[in-house]
Order: sequence, then C-alpha cells, then structure tokens
Amino acid sequence: MTHLYNMTLAEMEQWLADMGEPKYRAKQIFQWLYQHRVTSFDEMTNLPKALRERLSAEAKLGTAREITRQVSRVDGTVKFLLGWTDDVTVETVLMRHDYGNSVCVSTQVGCKMGCTFCASTLGGMIRQMTAGEMVEQLLYSQRLLDESGERVSSIVLMGSGEPMDNYDAAMKFIDIVNDPNGLNIGQRHITISTVGLVPGIRRLADDGRPITLAVSLHAATDEQRSAMMPVNKAYPIAKLLEACHYYHEKTGKRISFEYALIGGKNDSLEDARRLAELLRDLPSHVNLIPVNYVPERNYQRTPKEEIQAFLTELRNLGVNATVRREMGHDISAACGQLRAEHAGTV
Ligand code: SAH
Repeated sequence: MTHLYNMTLAEMEQWLADMGEPKYRAKQIFQWLYQHRVTSFDEMTNLPKALRERLSAEAKLGTAREITRQVSRVDGTVKFLLGWTDDVTVETVLMRHDYGNSVCVSTQVGCKMGCTFCASTLGGMIRQMTAGEMVEQLLYSQRLLDESGERVSSIVLMGSGEPMDNYDAAMKFIDIVNDPNGLNIGQRHITISTVGLVPGIRRLADDGRPITLAVSLHAATDEQRSAMMPVNKAYPIAKLLEACHYYHEKTGKRISFEYALIGGKNDSLEDARRLAELLRDLPSHVNLIPVNYVPERNYQRTPKEEIQAFLTELRNLGVNATVRREMGHDISAACGQLRAEHAGTV
C-alpha cells in the first residue's frame, strides 16, 4: 500500500506517471489532501471514478488513530496521543499562542539520545517516524483548527525523538508541508530542535533552508553537560559551538539555545556567566525552560526568583534570553509523559 501523506508532490507525480495517469492529477490530489483535507477518496470529486477506485485499492490516506487527547483548561493546549498499526504511539501537541497556532511534532518513537532529564528516552528508540507519519500528526491539529476556521501557523520538531537522527524524513516532512499546493507552511515558521548532533547541524547549514535551528544546550561546561546528555561525549561543547558558528555564517540566522534549569545542577549565577561567555560572539537567543517534572528522574525545579536572577544575569552580560512560557501545565506536562502513562495499554 502506498501512503499518500508520505509523498512529496514530485514523488506523487512520478507515482501517477508510472500508473499511466497524467501528471496534473498529482496537484489535484495534493490539494484534496492538504487544502480540503478530505478523509476519503470519494470526496476527490474532480478525479474520474476509475482513478478514485484505483487509488482506494492501491493507496492509503491516514494510517494513525487517536488513542486519547488532553485539552488544557488553562491555555487551550491540546495533546494528542496517536497510535499506529504496529502498536507504537507518539505524542503531538497543539499550542495556541497570541501570534498563532503552533504544533509540536515527534520525529521518532522514543529516543536513543539518553538525556537524563527527558521522559522520551526512558524506553530507548523504538523506530523512526516516516515523513508521512509526521504529516499525519500535523493534520490532527489542523483538522481540529478547521472547526474554528484557523490554521497551523508554525511547526516545531521538538516532540519525542532526535530529528537529526532521522534527517531525510524530517526534511521530506518539511518539503511536504511547505508545498504551495498543500499546507503551504513557510520554512521560516519551522523550527528543528537538536540535542547537538554536529554532522546534522553542518548538513542543515549546507542545505541552505531558511528554517530555525534550536540547540538543546542545557549546560555550560562539558562536565555538567556530559552528565546530563551522553551526546556531549561524542560532540563536546566546543565542537557544537563551532558547528553553530558555521551554521550562522552559512545562513545568517541566529540560533536558539534551550536551557532547562534544574535546581542545584546548572542554575547558579556562575552557570549563567559561563553560558554568556560561551555565546559571546554568536548571534543567538536563549530559551530558559523550568525543567518539567519526570517522575522517574525526580529533579528539582529552580525557584521563580532564581530563574529571574539567572535571566537578569544573562541579559546584563548581553545575552538575548527569555523564559519559555509553559503551555498546558495542567495536562501531562513533560514531553513523553502521556505516552508513558499509556504504555502497555495499546
Ligand atoms: N531531540 C531534540 C528534540 C526533542 S526534545 C532535542 O534534544 O532538542 C525538545 C526539548 O525539550 C529539548 O530541548 C529537550 O532537551 C527538552 N526537554 C526534554 N525533557 C525535558 C524536561 N523534563 N524539562 C524541560 N525540557 C525538557
């Protein structure tokens, strides 16, 4: 079975050509999938009946099912838990900001990066998500927004998994959602977040896409970072920042750094000063994230006043920094938690 959501427009054109169908049909199907967002082939009314029948025999539309969803009463954040036929599950989240609707997409089922503070990595990496499965995640949010005539305006590849460890599928996903015949979501409105896989960052720099790069830094010394993020042993801070400088030189874009504040681990003013020193010559923005509680980890959160002091210290040293607004803190807040709660039930 061919998964239609897993095809770029060019691939769909080729696929139809191989079936002896005219190329322009691909554009029509793309529009049905992404602009009208139909859920059956019968609705594709400008296709000949014979082609519709052939499509339903040879191709599939959705492959995911919704297992559960949680809606935040505080800010309208919606967290979907989706399941696939091989019994894997991933989360995707719709966040409503004053500047628009943003969707967080998972790029892998689980994760093998082993960050000590993260729930997604607890069971290791189970499998990659295909581009089409990422597209399906997005469509759950878009269909919900359709009920109120709204659209997804930005995407963050910040769900479970490491996008740079599934590079080709992540880029294909971006190509599909970026297509003007489809969802037409501008690459400037797409952010890819990485644990710091240096070859991926360099490859992205060379690809010349105008997407935003976010790097999960979380510590300002190798000793601290290696204790939290095993990837730091392979790509220590100096190598990571070298790649970030390269990315900036190639793209002219400023880089976002994520820094989860963990009480007593990386949240002293001394840490703030070291962080400022690291980023001194690099156009960047630091997102401070109060660490999300993961039951298996039992990390302490940094008290509000200390977060503020950390922020002030960074700003005084010339660093662009903000504290990330927490979304949906009344629903299973930490990444991977909804999935963990449901483990064994699907
Ligand atoms: N693998 C990618 C993207 C997925 S994680 C990456 O590492 O960037 C998305 C972000 O959430 C990362 O910055 C990650 O470090 C952060 N994160 C994971 N668990 C967290 C927790 N318990 N509290 C706060 N941030 C967390």
